[in-house]
Amino acid sequence: VPNPLQNFDWNLRSCGLRGHVTYAPTEEALRDRLHVVTPAGEAWRCLRCGTYAVGAPNASGAADAAPRVLRGKALRDAFILRLLAVERGIRGLGLALIAIGILKFSSSHDVLQQMLDTYLPLVRPIADRVGYDLETSGVVRLIHEALNLKHTTVLWAAAGIGAYAALELVEAVGLWLMKRWGEYVAVVGTAVFIPLEVYELIDKASVLKAVALLVNVGAVVYILVTKRLFGLRGGHAAFEAERHGESLLEVEAAAAGEHPGRHHSPTP
Ligand SMILES: [Zn+2]
Repeated sequence: VPNPLQNFDWNLRSCGLRGHVTYAPTEEALRDRLHVVTPAGEAWRCLRCGTYAVGAPNASGAADAAPRVLRGKALRDAFILRLLAVERGIRGLGLALIAIGILKFSSSHDVLQQMLDTYLPLVRPIADRVGYDLETSGVVRLIHEALNLKHTTVLWAAAGIGAYAALELVEAVGLWLMKRWGEYVAVVGTAVFIPLEVYELIDKASVLKAVALLVNVGAVVYILVTKRLFGLRGGHAAFEAERHGESLLEVEAAAAGEHPGRHHSPTP
């Protein structure tokens, strides 16, 4: 199966959208490796796509202080995780609105209860006149009970949906900011609902449910594998090493014999 994204350059896509990232390090040997003089003027090597961009550097300073640029696979991961973050964010907001709607509905139940309390004394004399005992009839009591029962049930439902909305929003923020805790929350928060989703699909199958299940299983596997969570594929150390290996500045620094302080090799 041909992969349409096989030749897709995530670096160029990002540079096309946001411009090149050029940086003039103060370390001379490193500076020389990133800098050329062309007939059109000075040019600096983009830390993302690696091509030379004519013009003054975006910034300069110690190599340690250079912007952390996502490249290649890390950029693709960031794109996919941010799509997932948007999906989680929309779902979280939708669920929050539903929870708020339920709470409003429950407060209108309170209004119903108040109406019953207000109008019952007014109806009582009429009921008495026709010989109908409201208190022992059970009807009024049943209405009261139904209202009360519904009220607590509704509150529990709102609390549950509200908690789920909060989880989705935390996942969205964590994934968007590309934080490791966000990836853990997303993986665990998604995985715990998968058995329920499978059960629901078996109970009553639908295309939408099947697609949602596939997206969630795919997301869990994707994040687990690419982010090397729970010590998978070497864990956090291997993930950091992979990211450092993709950093142009670090590759060039190593070639120039420079050792920028921040970019020490990760301890296993
Ligand atoms: Zn570039």
